[in-house]
Amino acid sequence: THFGYKTIKREDKEKMVGGVFSSVASNYDLMNDVMSMGVHRLWKNHFINRLDAGMRPGSNRPLDFLDVAGGTGDIAFGLLEHAEKRFNDRASTMTIADINPDMLREGELRYQSTKWNDGSDRVNFLVQNGETMDQIEDNSKDVYTIAFGIRNFTNIQAGLDTAYRILRPGGIFACLEFSQVDNAAIDYIYQAYSFSLLPLMGQLIANDRDSYQYLVESIRKFPKQEEFKGMIEKAGFYVPEKGYENLTFGVASIHIGVKL
Ligand code: SAM
Repeated sequence: THFGYKTIKREDKEKMVGGVFSSVASNYDLMNDVMSMGVHRLWKNHFINRLDAGMRPGSNRPLDFLDVAGGTGDIAFGLLEHAEKRFNDRASTMTIADINPDMLREGELRYQSTKWNDGSDRVNFLVQNGETMDQIEDNSKDVYTIAFGIRNFTNIQAGLDTAYRILRPGGIFACLEFSQVDNAAIDYIYQAYSFSLLPLMGQLIANDRDSYQYLVESIRKFPKQEEFKGMIEKAGFYVPEKGYENLTFGVASIHIGVKL
């Protein structure tokens, strides 16, 4: 283990995840900013633009979006805004799902003051475990997004299988996640930063060393880009030629899968 960091037992993971996100729900943005040095905002914008989702002019069927581990709604609201600006789409629906009611409440609070809170019921919130999604029917969604969420799943493959189950044929799976740096020198600096500086910053800024330490560990344990791509294929998705896109030397990456 790098830099003398201890490993968290698997059976403690689920409990930890609940605790981590409950304790940070209200200053969650701060944590993301610290983690990524502010760059997560650029990554998220790129993710949304790259997906370029929305009901195309001339189409008569609105899309059904599902943002899993949606937390505070960054991605969900970004997607809706994009669809409206690019395609004048004011009809597609959005479900924001998260396992943690505190995180979801933050999203709902934000939603109250958005333009989508117009009584139209286009946006709804659901407490759900992304591994099972038992309240979402088979073949019922067009776009499945998940940003910085899937590495927290206890069973990542189950989450991918579920994504496949609930997407319609032709539906798109898109994941933005911390990933593995592809350059040795930069990786050395990055590891040093994340294993020593990050937990310290977590302690100083949020008085919460453990949560930041958990996040560092969860990033380190997440499968590398090629392996994750293989898991997406295993779930049944067709992965387009390049398969994934590295952002900032692979500090994060975007994976896409299509349900044929
Ligand atoms: N997508 C948001 C963003 O990018 O700002 C939030 C990301 S936050 C780092 C991770 C989220 O994953 C938390 O809200 C947490 O509650 C959620 N989460 C963790 N495990 C989950 C699971 N098994 N199913 C659904 N959501 C989960």
